[in-house]
Amino acid sequence: MAQIKKAAKYVYYFGGGKADGNESMKNLLGGKGANLAEMAGHPKLRLPVPPGFTLTTEVCTYYYNNKKKYPAVLDAQLKKALAAVEKEMGKKFGDVNNPLLVSVRSGARKSMPGMMETVLDIGLNEKTIEGVINQSGDARFAYDAYRRLIMMYADVVMEKAGGIEPKGGKGIRKVLDEKLEKIKHKKGYKFDTDLTINELKALVKDFKATVLKVLGKPFPDDPYEQLWGSIGAVFSSWMGKRACEYRRIEKIPDEWGTAVNVQAMVFGNMGDSSATGVAFTRNPGNGENKFYGEYLVNAQGEDVVAGIRTPAPVNEYSKNDQSRHLPTLEFIMPVAYKQLFDIQRRLEKHYKDMQDIEFTIEKGTLFMLQCRIGKRNGVAAVKMASDMYNEKLIDAKTAIKRVAPNQLVELLLPMLDPKEQAATKAIAKGLPAGPGGAKGRVVFTSNDAVEWAAKGEKVILVREETSPEDVDGMHKSQAILTTKGGMTSHAALVARGWGKCCIVGCADIEIHIETKSFKANDGTFIKEGDWLSLDGTKGLVYLGSMGLVDIDLDKNLAYKNLMKLVNKTRTLKVRTNAETPEDAAHAMKFGAEGIGLFRTEHMFYGEGSEQPLFLLRKMIMSKTEPERRKALNDLFVFVKKDIKDTMEVMKGYPVTIRLLDPPLHEFVPHDVSKLQELSKELGISLSMLRRRVLALHENNPMLGHRGVRLGVSYPEITEMQVRAIFEATAEILKSGKKAFPEIMVPVTCIENELIHQKIIVDRVYKEVCDSKKMKKIPYLYGTMIEIPRAAIKADKMAEIADFFSFGTNDLTQMSFGFSRDDVGGFLPKYMDLKVLPDDPFQTIDQDGVGELVKLGTDRGRKTKPNLKVGICGEHGGDAESVKFFHRVGMNYVSCSPFRVPIALLAAAHAAIESGKGK
Ligand code: PEP
Ligand code: MG
Repeated sequence: MAQIKKAAKYVYYFGGGKADGNESMKNLLGGKGANLAEMAGHPKLRLPVPPGFTLTTEVCTYYYNNKKKYPAVLDAQLKKALAAVEKEMGKKFGDVNNPLLVSVRSGARKSMPGMMETVLDIGLNEKTIEGVINQSGDARFAYDAYRRLIMMYADVVMEKAGGIEPKGGKGIRKVLDEKLEKIKHKKGYKFDTDLTINELKALVKDFKATVLKVLGKPFPDDPYEQLWGSIGAVFSSWMGKRACEYRRIEKIPDEWGTAVNVQAMVFGNMGDSSATGVAFTRNPGNGENKFYGEYLVNAQGEDVVAGIRTPAPVNEYSKNDQSRHLPTLEFIMPVAYKQLFDIQRRLEKHYKDMQDIEFTIEKGTLFMLQCRIGKRNGVAAVKMASDMYNEKLIDAKTAIKRVAPNQLVELLLPMLDPKEQAATKAIAKGLPAGPGGAKGRVVFTSNDAVEWAAKGEKVILVREETSPEDVDGMHKSQAILTTKGGMTSHAALVARGWGKCCIVGCADIEIHIETKSFKANDGTFIKEGDWLSLDGTKGLVYLGSMGLVDIDLDKNLAYKNLMKLVNKTRTLKVRTNAETPEDAAHAMKFGAEGIGLFRTEHMFYGEGSEQPLFLLRKMIMSKTEPERRKALNDLFVFVKKDIKDTMEVMKGYPVTIRLLDPPLHEFVPHDVSKLQELSKELGISLSMLRRRVLALHENNPMLGHRGVRLGVSYPEITEMQVRAIFEATAEILKSGKKAFPEIMVPVTCIENELIHQKIIVDRVYKEVCDSKKMKKIPYLYGTMIEIPRAAIKADKMAEIADFFSFGTNDLTQMSFGFSRDDVGGFLPKYMDLKVLPDDPFQTIDQDGVGELVKLGTDRGRKTKPNLKVGICGEHGGDAESVKFFHRVGMNYVSCSPFRVPIALLAAAHAAIESGKGK
């Protein structure tokens, strides 16, 4: 028998304790429609939701695929659903005696706040208004609703959806609004509610005449024309400029389409026993398990959002400085409040997450207009996840997944006062290199930063870019702002390591170093000593001094609770990149399980580096091996102490110490006094020294004489460092404490380099064992994989190496051929134009560089199945990259101390996502 094809269902009804849809149907009904259906129809809820129906997202797709036409069956389905609404409400759409009014609202799968349109009070005209007056007994209210409808309809349907460009940029809504304001001004009224009936009547008349005059068409009287016009306008708004831009940023596909919700109007503006409000089942600002919300008496929802009147608190708990004097909903409408309170508890229990709800009270009767998962900040997210787990509302995996790894940043660093920030316009934007907030007075040189800081000033160092010589000034500054450089530029790397606020590549400003000033693109002129505030999480620069909000992690029990769950779940280990006892201790406190990268060269920068740096320079400028050995001998003491101090803090956790990496010329002094001092020490003339400095110059230092190449050219450097490592370890072990070093060779591309260095390591190992009278000293010997060739030949490298650590900074640089110090010049454009989806120095390029990482890991493990594999590039602290490294099967990631908690949480997310979480 031939099957009769059933027409697609395009309209879903909800109301009166039943619903065609439910919460799981977000793709079809949109978030709002699905939740309205759930609230209205789920047997455990059956909440007082005004009846209505949802036109599915498929209608939207059909509309766009068919030259803005609707499916043929839509009209009949809509009428049927509308009849059900009429029945439930005991009113009729367009009826003169007892008219039903409806609202039309958008509702996409994913919330797109404020991006699409809404029309309220549909169904009002010269005739039905009489019915509304009779039914409500409130002519003032009826005319107020009428003028709102005309204004919204003219704006949303006739002008915007009609494609009319407002004359002189002034839209019809503004034109009409000015008319309202004029009356208020003339009469000395403060609020819209002060207008009399007659004034409203006259205003309605004036509005209609103005609409005709300005838009060339009359406001339609036919309720069905109003309804279809509004539905069409919401569908059109899906392709509006604002919505399209928002989707691009949020990566929401255009094909999803929006649903449209048509719902019986209920009125919060029917006098003093009516109200409307927004509330959260828990405080979204701090996560406390307390009902929190605001409301307005005698108002419609748009009034709460518009901020014309200060909303009042729903209860004592919700009071703030602005609303302290206002009466609570609990006080003025105790019955409705109690009902609302019970409903919000039930909703949270049902959805098992914090809900953001909208409600209206019409003449004492409560209606629920919306519920959805509430947005929250990082602090609140952690508190809620931990509390809900303790309350047994959610399990451990759900609690972990409730917090996005990057949200933890807010718990770790002070941030700009969110209220002040919201009220201030940024003067410039750059790359968010070091998160958190900071404020200080502008200085333009590292020396000034040091001097000003010594006088107790808080400073922000503004530079085109920074170099190792700036480290002291950078350290003394509250934050660093550079106009050049990318996410792995010197400034970014150093600042992130310290957990310091930093913005790099801020091309919106131009520095005039001669006058110690800069000018922003928006015209703002800043001179030395002026105050700036930076949001390093978003990369925003503000003029002036903003408040900072501090958070003490030690006292945050919710965080500790959550991290316990995280540590039980994850399988990937997390280490830190650190080279001082302070940083190491910090990272240990955050939960680091070792050091994945100890950059030996860091002892030559910043505070306390004078002496070792001088000796290093002496070594670099030496011409003969004996000269060099002498300088190295003197340096040895410092190197050993440096390594020993940090290794002791790590209490036996592995410490990966990297042999000297940077090209030597980076350490060469530039100022004359330093050169003179050095020439005297070496017993050579200044000009001779200058010649030696010049000889070190390279055209392409990043691809030059650096990494293992130094160790091959000057084996005595490797020898000194390795001896320092073994002696430090032996001494710690002898004192009864634990230590476990991993010697790491940087910038290798062929196994012969590893063999060459291993011969030195083996010899020194034996010598130290003998001199310290130890049978053995535990250690591993491994390499960084940061050159594509090394990844490709990983099977060979693994024949010598006990471990690999992927240096994804250099690996990215060399795979893309992008200089990591110069990407600021072109990368922002690449990202703007979507040539690249993300900054590859921040988030690993999974398809390209990631493929090399995967291939290198697999090939290495083919040779040595137990090969330990980690990563120590900046990507080790990036949540998405961490997840990728988990999937690749790495043993650990290593990141700056302040990124450790983020990496730990990302590792737990990765374990859950791959079904491996405990
Ligand atoms: C790397 O290249 O990823 C790395 C960690 O080393 P560096 O940043 O010191 O070159
Ligand atoms: Mg490197």
